[in-house]
Amino acid sequence: MFHLPMLIQTSLPPRFRPVSQPVGSLLALLLLSGCGTALQPRPQSVPSAQQPTQATGSAVRQSPEQTVRSSEVPDKREPQSEHLPDATPRIPWVNPARCLPSCAFDPGTKLVRVNDRAEEDEKGRHRILSDVREPLVQLLAAAKAQGHALRIESAFRSYEDQVRVFTTIKEIGRAARPGHSEHQLGSVIDLRIRTGAAIEWLALHAADFGFALSYPAQKQRITGYRPEPWHIRYIGTALAQRARDEKLSVEELLRSQPDLGESGACTDCPHPASVAACGDIPASGRCDKTVLSWCYEGSLASVDCGSTSQTCGQRPGSEEFDCLPKATDSHSATDSQRTTDSRSK
Ligand SMILES: [Zn+2]
Repeated sequence: MFHLPMLIQTSLPPRFRPVSQPVGSLLALLLLSGCGTALQPRPQSVPSAQQPTQATGSAVRQSPEQTVRSSEVPDKREPQSEHLPDATPRIPWVNPARCLPSCAFDPGTKLVRVNDRAEEDEKGRHRILSDVREPLVQLLAAAKAQGHALRIESAFRSYEDQVRVFTTIKEIGRAARPGHSEHQLGSVIDLRIRTGAAIEWLALHAADFGFALSYPAQKQRITGYRPEPWHIRYIGTALAQRARDEKLSVEELLRSQPDLGESGACTDCPHPASVAACGDIPASGRCDKTVLSWCYEGSLASVDCGSTSQTCGQRPGSEEFDCLPKATDSHSATDSQRTTDSRSK
């Protein structure tokens, strides 16, 4: 994901500019650059239920979210689909170390083109999984009924899109590596949110429509990505409500139930940018000014703590480095929850 914070901030009234607010009330606007480009569906290089082209793929999981076939790559982290009953739905488990079951997966014909209100529109800027459109329409309608005008800022991005974003965006931690972005699933939406109240509402009600927050505040060391309260992923109401009720990110949800997830080992990724070794960066992490880098399950992860008005430092009583409230800020307890711009992973 990647966002264009500056444009938004400068175009907003003062009350919508970056301020210190609790996560729930944080202001986020996104403007996406690469995410918002209109893209045409193209031939798929990756298998889906309708395109079982990858003979090496293991079992397929199906849900309203997506159908993905896992590539046959040795992966110590990967629960094997074939070990589960066919009826067990699985969802892609993506983080800085885990790739989509097939690195360049593309939902292809399962995508539908929509406008920023999730209405089918052949001229729309976005694409989402067709099965996710209706829940999203309902979510946006429920938000509107409460006075919150949410719009789609970004949705599906192909592997190639993500390569372009990752190699173009220079800000550290702004864009996920290709093959590691949930946006590639088609079930993920970055919403344009203009008020803190709308962000609070989304956190409370997205699950009622089957959407979970992948990157809640203060969980960057767990998710591998900076907080993004506008980034929602459709995982169905049962899982989403569990995540909400137990205050879990999607990553934590999958860690708590590993058999639910399905990942690839990135060995089939077409572009070298998909893989990043840790080098001499330890698991405990390191700070370079506001940029936090650490070895996340064997892959390099980086987050610019400055994107949430924090600093990078060592957590008190811990060996781990993390994004921390600025010492000079009297409202430091909530600093971690700030977000001043939104760009998707
Ligand atoms: Zn996103």
